[in-house]
Amino acid sequence: MKYIDKTLKKQQGEQIVTEFLNCFHNRTKAYPNDMYKAFCSEIDDAHNHVKFRQRLIDEVLIQEQDGLCCYCMRRLSECKKMTIEHVMPNHAVDKTELDKYRTRATELDGLPHSEDFKSLSPITYPPHPHSIAYQNLLLSCDGNLFNESPTPQCCNLKRKHTFLPPFVLYSNIIQTFIYTEDGMAEWQEDPEPPESKGNAMRILGLNKSILKMVRRIWFFCTDNNLNPQKEEKDFVINTMMGYLNFPSMNEEDINMLLNFKKDKYWKLLLEYDAFATIKHC
Ligand SMILES: [Zn+2]
Repeated sequence: MKYIDKTLKKQQGEQIVTEFLNCFHNRTKAYPNDMYKAFCSEIDDAHNHVKFRQRLIDEVLIQEQDGLCCYCMRRLSECKKMTIEHVMPNHAVDKTELDKYRTRATELDGLPHSEDFKSLSPITYPPHPHSIAYQNLLLSCDGNLFNESPTPQCCNLKRKHTFLPPFVLYSNIIQTFIYTEDGMAEWQEDPEPPESKGNAMRILGLNKSILKMVRRIWFFCTDNNLNPQKEEKDFVINTMMGYLNFPSMNEEDINMLLNFKKDKYWKLLLEYDAFATIKHC
């Protein structure tokens, strides 16, 4: 897991959103009813006719996250579809729902609910309405691990609108988030235990057996000076099979490991090369 610092590119991020609101208002003499929908479709004629949402992704968000999914750390360029994750849900019912997030992350504090924004008098910004505020937007993969299944396995589209503490905005997330040698991901400050439906890893699907195995292979390779980007996949998997302590591995794990001899699983593994530099505990 990586900490996403929303202070570093704040000025650039806010500038794009401000330009969007100005542009929309100049054109229609009003502010949009559906802020996010308008942000996705409004074209910025002053910047190569790119849509404002795309501009924010290209100029700010993708760099801010080193091109990685905010949750699973897959390389976003490999996903069929990159998605925008609203930390505070786009369609949050009201201010009270936003407060559950705003009290947990200072970056989100002060962002008005999009409905309340329109009744401000006078309307001034920033801060921007929550559904388009730069501070509330992250990039996530689409959870479609093989770019073929319509059911999201993880991350933004798996979460949907479920409440999730905004932990990627916590500056201590690196210290409180661990990966174990067998690939398990655990946020140690999660108030919800692993068996709870409200547990962050469960909501995001980050401990699906395939993702656990992706990380386990990367950790094994790092520990044994193997480079999956250079070695043959059969060599890596066979080596790993030879090393593993089989009593600790159940049949399901072994079968999952053997899946990585298939091209599409190996390709997925390589899309998670961010784990080459992450230490397990
Ligand atoms: Zn992801």
